[in-house]
Amino acid sequence: MLSLSQWPKRDDLYKHLDSLLSTSADPLALTALLIINLDNFRDFCELFEYRDIEEFLAIVGQSIKDACPESSYIAWLGSDEFAVVPALQAAAEVKETAETICQKLAEAKEFRDRQVHITGSLGYALFPYDARDRYELIRNATMAMNWVKKQGKNGFARFEPAMSQQVNRKMKLISDFGPALEQQQFRLQYQPQVSVASRAIVGAEALLRWQHPEYNLIPPLEFIPLAEESGYIHQIGEWVLCQACRDFNTWLEKGIVLERLAVNVSIVQLQKPDFAKRVLHALEEARLDPAYLELEITESQSMDLPKVKPQIEQLRNHGVRFAIDDFGTGFASLNHLRYMGFDTIKIDKAYIHNILTNNRDQVIVNSILNMAKHLQLGIIAEGVETDDQWRYIQQTAIKEVQGYYCSPPVDRPVFEDLIRKKCL
Ligand code: C2E
Ligand code: CA
Ligand code: CA
Repeated sequence: MLSLSQWPKRDDLYKHLDSLLSTSADPLALTALLIINLDNFRDFCELFEYRDIEEFLAIVGQSIKDACPESSYIAWLGSDEFAVVPALQAAAEVKETAETICQKLAEAKEFRDRQVHITGSLGYALFPYDARDRYELIRNATMAMNWVKKQGKNGFARFEPAMSQQVNRKMKLISDFGPALEQQQFRLQYQPQVSVASRAIVGAEALLRWQHPEYNLIPPLEFIPLAEESGYIHQIGEWVLCQACRDFNTWLEKGIVLERLAVNVSIVQLQKPDFAKRVLHALEEARLDPAYLELEITESQSMDLPKVKPQIEQLRNHGVRFAIDDFGTGFASLNHLRYMGFDTIKIDKAYIHNILTNNRDQVIVNSILNMAKHLQLGIIAEGVETDDQWRYIQQTAIKEVQGYYCSPPVDRPVFEDLIRKKCL
């Protein structure tokens, strides 16, 4: 039986690198470090026992070894991570070896009477070009490996400075969430939801903005995923909800009555067991009738349906409605609709973009409309930008739209002016 217990470990690797980088006769001789991490290894672990897993990792180690030139140094860093210091002198050869390792890893492996398919993500860095010392070499090779993971796994990449700039910006943004909340750097804009028949504004979608003191305005598509990753989404999401409910109530008090306040919530928020309680609390604080509120959820793979369903049900029992956002771009949409009981479908702007010219998009939109009718769901078309699109939509069963054609998202006072005008 193959075993990993005799292989060099992390400490051994460090010593090996130290000796290579310090005692080399030519201080600028190339030393490459490759870091390899298996993809979706957790799924694999669920299929086998602990003993089997160790044995399988030894097989993986062996196929990495087979892909490397003889007398390369290979270490097992624990779990599903390996490192290679190949016996090579040229950058092009290192690249070839990285490619061969990935190919070898991706080959199906016979194990315990099964065909196991597993792939790896590989990052590498070259001393002295990509790193000044052992620490940087390890850090940068690991950063390249993580970069490969984010790009979709099963591949290899050499470290580039842009990767570290990306990571630096990301780390900075995450550490700035706290001060941003304290110093009120977040604000909301509102985009009107407009009735196709009357052109009147019937609803408002709250969209979050971050005015960063150094980077200026940061788009939500950049910082929301970081807030989700770091857990700040709970505090930020709560701020959004409270602020939006307060704004909406202020409008009601001024006699500005809309049917709906739409607020985006992240799946990560919904997975917290006290989510429903927090939403109800925000409504109560703002003295807002829950029937005005519609929470928009983007369909996503990571939706743990049994976990979030009770939260949704509790809120729906209080009259809060739910919309499925960006409909048609994710997958599992139909399953979500059936299981969760949504109230509204928001057709993604990608479908509206080519609606005049793309016959397939027309067919898809028509079938969404048909389905919505039978399931008695409301429909909002997003991303309506042109007069032609507006006129096309007038001839369909779509009753409400959102888009630059009516108005982009605007600050609160501008939005109030828009409503006072009544129609767009
Ligand atoms: P979304 O919920 O689909 O919001 C609509 C996005 O489309 C907004 O981008 C809006 O500015 C943009 N948009 C509106 N009309 C048009 C149009 O006619 N054409 C085009 N091309 N775009 C249009 P924004 O504000 O950058 O927001 C991006 C996404 O960030 C949102 O997509 C939403 O998923 C997320 N987001 C925004 N605010 C929040 C929030 O408070 N919480 C959470 N969890 N996510 C938020
Ligand atoms: Ca939305
Ligand atoms: Ca959307």
